[in-house]
Amino acid sequence: MAMPSHAKYLIIGAGIHGLSTAWHLAAQLEAKGLGGGKDVLVIDKGGIAAGASGIACGVVRNNYFQPAMRELMAQCVEVWESDPKAFSYHPVGYMQISPEPMHADVATIYQQQKAIGYDSTFVEGEKDSMSYMKGLFHDWQAKGITSVLHEKKGGFANNTASIYGLAKKAEDLGVRILTGAKVTGFQYGHNSEAVTAVVTDRGVIECDQVVVGVGPWINQIWNMLELPKQVAIKGADGKLHEGIPMWRYWCLEEGTLGVDPDLQRTNDGGPPPVIHVDTDAPLYSDVDGSLISEEMWGIYYKPDLNFGGIQGGAMPYVVETPVDQVAVDPYGPDSPDFIVGDDFAHMWCSALAFCQKRFEGQIKHYKMNEPSGGLGCFTPDSFPVFDRFRENVYVIADSNHGYKMIGVGKLVAQELVNGESALLKPFRFSRYAEGKLHPTSHSPFPWS
Ligand SMILES: Cc1cc2nc3c(=O)[nH]c(=O)nc-3n(C[C@H](O)[C@H](O)[C@H](O)COP(=O)(O)OP(=O)(O)OC[C@H]3O[C@@H](n4cnc5c(N)ncnc54)[C@H](O)[C@@H]3O)c2cc1C
Repeated sequence: MAMPSHAKYLIIGAGIHGLSTAWHLAAQLEAKGLGGGKDVLVIDKGGIAAGASGIACGVVRNNYFQPAMRELMAQCVEVWESDPKAFSYHPVGYMQISPEPMHADVATIYQQQKAIGYDSTFVEGEKDSMSYMKGLFHDWQAKGITSVLHEKKGGFANNTASIYGLAKKAEDLGVRILTGAKVTGFQYGHNSEAVTAVVTDRGVIECDQVVVGVGPWINQIWNMLELPKQVAIKGADGKLHEGIPMWRYWCLEEGTLGVDPDLQRTNDGGPPPVIHVDTDAPLYSDVDGSLISEEMWGIYYKPDLNFGGIQGGAMPYVVETPVDQVAVDPYGPDSPDFIVGDDFAHMWCSALAFCQKRFEGQIKHYKMNEPSGGLGCFTPDSFPVFDRFRENVYVIADSNHGYKMIGVGKLVAQELVNGESALLKPFRFSRYAEGKLHPTSHSPFPWS
């Protein structure tokens, strides 16, 4: 595509958020008689699905302890369900299998799922949890489980395929997608905060409205926009805590056991739900019986033809390097620093065997020669920030919750065209200073 000189709406990032926003923006502009896809330009320094959306495990769930997250996820699942084929979406369901310290939290999730009409089953008590799981998988053997939340909706989607599906929907409505153009800065008006043009390594593009959907690169764009590197947060104690870094990186640990995906069928031969297990039972090595963990730990997994086996992950770890020095590029499997190693394979395969007998002794099939894992950029409270900055810059910073959030772009488009969305309101930047924080759960994961 020739380098455009102007775009009414310029979206940075061709991942799940940038493309979902582009598609819905085109549709909503057209519906209102205010224009259409020709007014929307997406630019990406790499290509479509070059970022986190292209390597995501692809899990789609509602299971969140925070009411605002749950309501938002229910809306997102509706968008996934609107065209499963185009989004390569597999609605197999999702299970949160938990130990006693998480029981009460998950019980409230179930209650609120009932309140919003989100179909799920909740099983309580060690004995009943075991028999429910054995009813699905005859070889279930995980210890320390006292509740099971079985979401009948949700499941997973194939990462790259779904992002290409979104790109097609946007392009079909006339949206232009320019790849290989990297944003290096912004130009501002003489007497205003607003961005008048986006500077790229291929030229300057004037624009009326910017949307930022750059996933793990948000710290770089945030710095270019000269937004605050630190924030003040009003805590539950009513005091303002100053100097909290706005961004920090976590490294996500995922991998694939290269066995036949059909190894993980349910007792009746059907496709299994995505499994997420947290437990406080000790984890021992499936290789030599040594103790791996006595702390609470968790894993998730699903059979996935796209990855060629049983794919999943475990808890991420905090990257201690100062945020401006973290090498985000090369990203994902190409990174020399942020891919998983032997320790992950040992832990995750042992944990699979802890859960189901069929995985005992299978570590030899782990795909060591396929690098996996990747960085996520997190906000101070690990929940998304969806907000306007500098008058005409809309930032979609999902704090790494976001592949499942295919519906956020629809709501962002609504905010750009029609006004405020109640579902996005709890995710404003001002919540830090106002102390309007989301409740935190007992999960060992930063995104539950
Ligand atoms: C290993 C892993 C597994 C995950 N699994 C899940 C999961 O199962 N479920 C889930 O819900 N979430 C998951 N996530 C999180 C999820 O992938 C992200 O939250 C989401 O994909 C972010 O989408 P995005 O559109 O904001 O960014 P991205 O998909 O990262 O897209 C951003 C795009 O911006 C482009 N870009 C960056 N900087 C510039 C620039 N200066 N100029 C031009 N373009 C630029 C990049 O090239 C990239 O293509 C996972 C994340 C990782 C790393």
